[in-house]
Amino acid sequence: MLSMKNINEFLGGRIFNLAELEQSELEDLISLGSQIVSATFKKNNKLFCRRCLMEIRKLPIEFQYCRNCINLGKIKVNDRLVITPTDVKYPIQSNYLVWDGQLTTNQQKGVRELLRAFDKKQDHLVWAVTGAGKTEMIFPLIEQALFKQQRVAICSPRVDVCIELFPRIQQVFPNTSVGLFHGKSEENYHLTQIMLATVHQLIRFEQAFDVLIIDEVDSYPLAGNKMLHQAITKAKDNQGMIVYLSATPPKELLIAVSKHQVTLTKLYQRFHGHPLPEPRCHLLLKQLEFLGINPRLRSKLTQLIKNGQRFMLFFPQIPIMKSFAEKLHKLYPLLNFVTVSSKDQHRLEKVQQFREQKVQAILTTTILERGVTFKKITVIVLAAQAKEFSKTSLIQIAGRAGRGKDSYDDEVHFYYQYYNDQIRLACAEIDYLNRQAKS
Ligand SMILES: [Zn+2]
Repeated sequence: MLSMKNINEFLGGRIFNLAELEQSELEDLISLGSQIVSATFKKNNKLFCRRCLMEIRKLPIEFQYCRNCINLGKIKVNDRLVITPTDVKYPIQSNYLVWDGQLTTNQQKGVRELLRAFDKKQDHLVWAVTGAGKTEMIFPLIEQALFKQQRVAICSPRVDVCIELFPRIQQVFPNTSVGLFHGKSEENYHLTQIMLATVHQLIRFEQAFDVLIIDEVDSYPLAGNKMLHQAITKAKDNQGMIVYLSATPPKELLIAVSKHQVTLTKLYQRFHGHPLPEPRCHLLLKQLEFLGINPRLRSKLTQLIKNGQRFMLFFPQIPIMKSFAEKLHKLYPLLNFVTVSSKDQHRLEKVQQFREQKVQAILTTTILERGVTFKKITVIVLAAQAKEFSKTSLIQIAGRAGRGKDSYDDEVHFYYQYYNDQIRLACAEIDYLNRQAKS
């Protein structure tokens, strides 16, 4: 028999491979209303996996299996899946949201539009410039869902975004169960009324959430990933809704808006009412590391360091960052700085050190292009012409600056060897958004 604690690790629209369950677990899950289904289904003469909804292509081996979702455990074509029930009774509270912040007029309009979409079970996109305060806008929406005894998932393709959001959500919904689950989390999945997770985790769910909020919908690895996009739709309850949040929404989503499949809220203004900092562009005639650090850049760095101004340096690749870090250390031995990348296990602690002003500078790849908020910083992109810096990426990076009410005019600098489309388009879009905010 499963204990209550263990049952919670199974419930809530989870998909299991029957072959991996013990007989007693299976009996318990069936008695609680789980369904048993075939692991595959046929459509147009093709075979598909029920868990990840991708096509299973035939391999020249005896036992065919789904290679698409193999990371979550092997599903063979003759396997059966167990899908656990979602009809859970959550504790009723008289008050769910504990938050005394103020929403701006623009945010209030966004909230009204979100709640209207919620009533209609209508998928909705919030297109909000960086620093517009989109997280606060979802609080009233989540509150409504909780009042209706519904279940909410807040997901992002980026684990850092989930980790940043988790304490904020816990804080404003202090008496609601909130879980954070991702590939690297130490916590095992268990049923909670609010779930924060990477989009990948949704592959393990079917019709599980009434409100599914996808933050940073345009970011890697969700952008253009069919399996993850299908996982989102599959994890949503038939009677539910999806909310997409983005400062730089992908084309497909804007097409869905134009076809009225998705409704839209636009927020051009930051919460403090000041415009987005416009990047200043600098052509470096010589290499970045010319004479150690290119003199044009060096004079800027010297000035920042002398003034005790905190700064972020963005690099297109880890090796370029590492090499630059050595030069930086040689030229400014007294400067305290950290470097972070996706490969860095201590990334979160280092980001915290920068936030707490224990170091003056942070050198980073695009891993910190979004989801992080610092105040009073100068943002510098090096080798802005590199292919790793897409237009979207440059807009997001520039959006790290000017987030504080008292430092809305933080500087943003793009340094490059040559000017190209992505730099031009990013600057043009920031300018456009600022003009829209004024009108
Ligand atoms: Zn699969």
